[in-house]
Amino acid sequence: MVSTDRVLVIGGGVAGMATAIGLDMAGRDSVVFEAASHSQSHSGASLILGPAALRVLDAMKLLDEVSDRSMPGSMLIPASEAQFEDPRLPEDFDFGAVGFRCIDRAVLQQILSAEATRRGIEIHYDKRLVTLGEDAVSVLAHFQDGTTAEGSLLVGADGRMSRVRSLLFPGTRLTFANSWYVYGTSTTDGLDEELRARLERGEGYHHDGPGTFLLVYRDDPARPNKITFLLVGQCERKIPAKHFEHRNPDELRAELADLVGAWSEPGARVIERATHVIPTQIYRPPALDSWYHGRAVLVGDALHVADPITGLGAAFAFEDALYLAKMLRDHDYRDAFYYFQEDRRPHTSAVQEALANGAFALERPHTTDDDGPLEWVTRTFDIDWDRTDTSPLASLAGATTTPESAVPQSTTDRAGQ
Ligand SMILES: Cc1cc2nc3c(=O)[nH]c(=O)nc-3n(C[C@H](O)[C@H](O)[C@H](O)COP(=O)(O)OP(=O)(O)OC[C@H]3O[C@@H](n4cnc5c(N)ncnc54)[C@H](O)[C@@H]3O)c2cc1C
Repeated sequence: MVSTDRVLVIGGGVAGMATAIGLDMAGRDSVVFEAASHSQSHSGASLILGPAALRVLDAMKLLDEVSDRSMPGSMLIPASEAQFEDPRLPEDFDFGAVGFRCIDRAVLQQILSAEATRRGIEIHYDKRLVTLGEDAVSVLAHFQDGTTAEGSLLVGADGRMSRVRSLLFPGTRLTFANSWYVYGTSTTDGLDEELRARLERGEGYHHDGPGTFLLVYRDDPARPNKITFLLVGQCERKIPAKHFEHRNPDELRAELADLVGAWSEPGARVIERATHVIPTQIYRPPALDSWYHGRAVLVGDALHVADPITGLGAAFAFEDALYLAKMLRDHDYRDAFYYFQEDRRPHTSAVQEALANGAFALERPHTTDDDGPLEWVTRTFDIDWDRTDTSPLASLAGATTTPESAVPQSTTDRAGQ
């Protein structure tokens, strides 16, 4: 008989797989349900992982494998000093050294799903959640193929368009985040010798254009001629889908190569050779008052879409996953969900506020002293997996003697505290 004391994880992307691994580390059973097929879910573009994501991978003992199968984030160093005159950066600042890795999304997915499988976690593909049910002791997940799964808790890790979120919080409306992205895969084949050698050595490019920037880099040590690019732009009004997401890929590629050619000749040559282009416009839900409802909780993009310009989406997903698992290790589910929300919210909302206040704006002058992108993308949330999350009462009990100076002398003193 299937145990119902298990956590149903809906979505097998970064957040879902990391949650299942974290739960296993916490001694909890879980099972993952992913809407896509195995091959679809092991595809996609590329991810840049910053210190926050890498710290979680380290706690999961996956950092060595991720490092072996990724490339350093050298392309984050801009092509010319003049384009990035940030006085706070030391001359020899090396983004690779502070811990940025570029990884093919399919490779990361393989690493995570292999680790989940090694730990005995079941992963079911082609399982699209359509609706949820809940009673006093369990939660039921109903899938499009007519099947149902039962568990004690449910984690919605089903991404930006989360079905779980819309079932828990009906009426949540997504708004355009004023950003567009094109991820692409290209090849060094046919490039002139100098450019080809530079890219194959792993030296990427970062070029700023008007209202846009372009990153060109390698993300797979096993494939020296595979090049990834990310072209990012910001705009007030969304681009009509027929000119972007639904555009003929060859026409879109040609238009992008022209656009980029005006300010980055090498970038245009890489885009002309693209074998894949994935155009995306970003929509995000409003900040949710509550991150959970009943026996179900949200993590990753389902909860808070970190605009890709922040480079923090995967970081949020990994940190959510491990912190939620830790709270479920140390508390019953109501407290765990509460602490997960209350402890994480200040961290994630500070990034969202910085984004709203223009810290990541492409036209932002890089010479000011305020909090720039660098400060945000290198921030981490302290999970401290090995330390048990104790009750405040335990720390009170630990204080056996009260220093005299701490004893209020009068009601005025007390009121003044
Ligand atoms: C163009 C672009 C570039 C980005 N670049 C970066 C980057 O460089 N660095 C970075 O940190 N972040 C980046 N991000 C953000 C990052 O991709 C996300 O934040 C991260 O993937 C979130 O992981 P997730 O598991 O929450 O969501 P997802 O990766 O979207 O996974 C959700 C999973 O749930 C499944 N699912 C959906 N609905 C259902 C359902 N009803 N039932 C079952 N399963 C379901 C989906 O098939 C999917 O596999 C980028 C995003 C975009 C769009």
